[in-house]
Amino acid sequence: MSSRWSKDLTEIEKEDYRNRYKGCGKERYKVANIDHCHKINQVRGLLCTSCNKGLGQFYDQPSLLVKASEYLRKFNQKCLN
Ligand SMILES: [Zn+2]
Repeated sequence: MSSRWSKDLTEIEKEDYRNRYKGCGKERYKVANIDHCHKINQVRGLLCTSCNKGLGQFYDQPSLLVKASEYLRKFNQKCLN
């Protein structure tokens, strides 16, 4: 981890007073993934492994994540009714 990231991480940990992952909100454990924006190389927050990998699988595109969420929501409505 670079020293610049260490500084950024400290700031994020101060903000994250509840010790929750930023993505899913689950309780944070010792292992956290430092998520960062690849375009400007800036730390965005601490994520669990699933969220960190998931965002990458969706190319960090919120619109794609919304479409996938809608897809699952529609299916789940059929499945539960
Ligand atoms: Zn997560």
